[in-house]
Amino acid sequence: MAWIFGHRPERQGHNRALIVAVATGCEAPGLKANNQKSLRVIKRKEMKIGVIGGGLMGLATAYYLNKKGHEVTILEKEKEIGGLSSSEEILPGFYWDRFYHVILTTDNQLLEFLGELGLSEDIRFRETKTGFYTDGQLHSMSTTIEFLQFKPLSLIDKLRLGAGILYASKIKNWKRLEKNTAKAWLIGIFGRRNYEKMWEPLLRAKLGAAKDKISAAFIWSTIRRYYGTRQKSSKKEMMGCADSGYSFILNHLNDYLLRHGTTIFKGYCANRIEQINGKRIAVKSNKGISFVFDRVIATTPTPTISNLSSDFTDEFRFKLENIKYLGIVCVTLLLKKSITPFYVTNLTDNGLPFTGLIEATNVMPKKILNGKSLVYLPKYVAPEDPFFKKTDQEILHEFLSALKKMFPDLNDEDILTYKINRESYVQPVQEIGYSEKIPSMQTPVNNFYMANTAMIQNSNVNNNEVIKIARKAADLVANSDEFSNRR
Ligand SMILES: Cc1cc2nc3c(=O)[nH]c(=O)nc-3n(C[C@H](O)[C@H](O)[C@H](O)COP(=O)(O)OP(=O)(O)OC[C@H]3O[C@@H](n4cnc5c(N)ncnc54)[C@H](O)[C@@H]3O)c2cc1C
Repeated sequence: MAWIFGHRPERQGHNRALIVAVATGCEAPGLKANNQKSLRVIKRKEMKIGVIGGGLMGLATAYYLNKKGHEVTILEKEKEIGGLSSSEEILPGFYWDRFYHVILTTDNQLLEFLGELGLSEDIRFRETKTGFYTDGQLHSMSTTIEFLQFKPLSLIDKLRLGAGILYASKIKNWKRLEKNTAKAWLIGIFGRRNYEKMWEPLLRAKLGAAKDKISAAFIWSTIRRYYGTRQKSSKKEMMGCADSGYSFILNHLNDYLLRHGTTIFKGYCANRIEQINGKRIAVKSNKGISFVFDRVIATTPTPTISNLSSDFTDEFRFKLENIKYLGIVCVTLLLKKSITPFYVTNLTDNGLPFTGLIEATNVMPKKILNGKSLVYLPKYVAPEDPFFKKTDQEILHEFLSALKKMFPDLNDEDILTYKINRESYVQPVQEIGYSEKIPSMQTPVNNFYMANTAMIQNSNVNNNEVIKIARKAADLVANSDEFSNRR
């Protein structure tokens, strides 16, 4: 097991307590029940590896390291694992994702990972529809006929839009696109009218003030990812989820890890890392307990990694601090009735306070909510945006007033309950030349690594990319030479 020390690494009080706990099955002081359970099955393994962050990246990295035979400990600052993919109780006994999630038919790495966990059969794909709210009206854009009937664009614009999407979906050389802004590239391919009517509002909705900085590679990859959701033969849009949302996947992953000897400390925030004798890494946590590992990998957002060590080189620290993020404020509403037939409604009208409308019930099994509807209203904002400081009541009032204008039939009695979630670091802003800005997984501190969503290039943040990065990170951490030299 990983050595755990008291306030100073050389004090071993907690360590003894834990060893006794493992040997006897008793409770070690200050440890939660599921931590205890996993301690009992710990066996001696190859390396003791600490993973900071229990979001999907941390859990999947732990999974791959565990499969390679290493002894893994996860430190998660919240009381529950899952990070952005975690769930909350929306009605007594009814849990669903804090932020809406779907799995796409093209999420090959994620689907393979779920297959390894034995969950393939539990992900059900359904036909979904996409809408646009433009010029004060809802439009369906799910079939070619609906697309051709879409009034806000002329026939010529529509033909150019369709041809442009097809062309974009076939492009393979993204390096070239990375040198161009999304704006210049979109105008070049789709024309100015399509840009102003469709793309510019969509970019504003997704990226706010960062929309003019984003590279063409980012929007190209988004087009490719969603174009792929339309099945080749039927051209139907398909999206999937487990019957109880992402919590189903996270619970299985949690149980798998515990069963296979990984320890998960919930409520443990990693505050600092320090190198011991140039080899091992001590992680200091908020609870006054330090953990010592052969190797450590941080899977948290880049700004939190920058604060962990004073031993980074200036160049590396600059790279960490040079990654800008967008955060999110997201209102979840449980409504008495459905308001759209769409999973996503893209909003192209100016002046709406939220940047998208997602009716999750249109991808969930119908029986779960029995006619009620689960709607998410996200707003992407920079972490320093004053919007984050608004009270729940202010945000709710602003969002509901706009929603009621969009849907005049909706009234207060239709709103059964609501939740508001805020996260500061969600989407790294993929600017011009982003691939050159990405920090390496190997940090300048020997045996300390990082793997996070800032390493996703040419794609929005999604769990398919997370699994890809987690697997790569586990290979690097497990295979680099330093540890074997030490032995
Ligand atoms: C609105 C929204 C919609 C989305 N929709 C989809 C979708 O449909 N499909 C899809 O594939 N993906 C979707 N995603 C993306 C998906 O949620 C992310 O890809 C994924 O959750 C990222 O996981 P992560 O582990 O990298 O980061 P996070 O989930 O941010 O996890 C980081 C973890 O580290 C913990 N932590 C932070 N600091 C410390 C510290 N110092 N010590 C210990 N722990 C710490 C945090 O508490 C957190 O649990 C969506 C995201 C959002 C916000």
